Amino acid sequence: MLNNYITYLNFLNEKLDKFFRQQKPYVFCKKGCSRCCRHAQFPYTSIEITYLLQGLIKLDKETLDIISSNVDRILEEEKTFQGDRFRYDCPFLINDACSVYEYRGIVCRTFGLPTQAPDGALLIPFCCYEGLNYSNVFDIDKNKVSEEKVRALNPEFEPYGYNISYEYLTNPDFERGFNFSFGERKPLIEWFKTKGNVE
Ligand code: SF4
Ligand code: SF4
Repeated sequence: MLNNYITYLNFLNEKLDKFFRQQKPYVFCKKGCSRCCRHAQFPYTSIEITYLLQGLIKLDKETLDIISSNVDRILEEEKTFQGDRFRYDCPFLINDACSVYEYRGIVCRTFGLPTQAPDGALLIPFCCYEGLNYSNVFDIDKNKVSEEKVRALNPEFEPYGYNISYEYLTNPDFERGFNFSFGERKPLIEWFKTKGNVE
């Protein structure tokens, strides 16, 4: 089943590579930028966790120890958390780099591109407001992409909201088409309560 999921990931990666190429004039992702790996919940399905664990077992002990202590710290912090949506920095983020990059989840692969709201509106990644993706064509005062700024770039492709929401990409149609099962879905840190620590 994991091989079929990997086939799906290859299919997805090909699409995402194309979308990122199309949106290149507006995308400022670079090595060392890790804002999208912080202060979030990171939804993961069972198959994504199984795949991620394949990457984990290849890591050296020192890296595993860091991840393990990150997981412990997050779980401790959660115990005293009072709100209704506990957020944390991803435990696999070490020195602003992903320690399991090839094995990362679906949500990690899509971040940085706009999606489309049900009403058709363009949903720009939050890092736009921090001077990153799409900030070169975004009008903060009007809270929308500026057609004028886009025109000035004379791009091949305009900013576009792709159908790449996590809900869509983990849709049962893909399970049927590629013959695997996503399984249960929950925030990344929740998996470490049931699967034990990473040691
Ligand atoms: S999506 Fe935004 S926050 Fe994430 S790496 Fe790219 S520029 Fe940085
Ligand atoms: S798995 Fe890697 S890419 Fe995904 S949030 Fe964690 S550090 Fe970032």
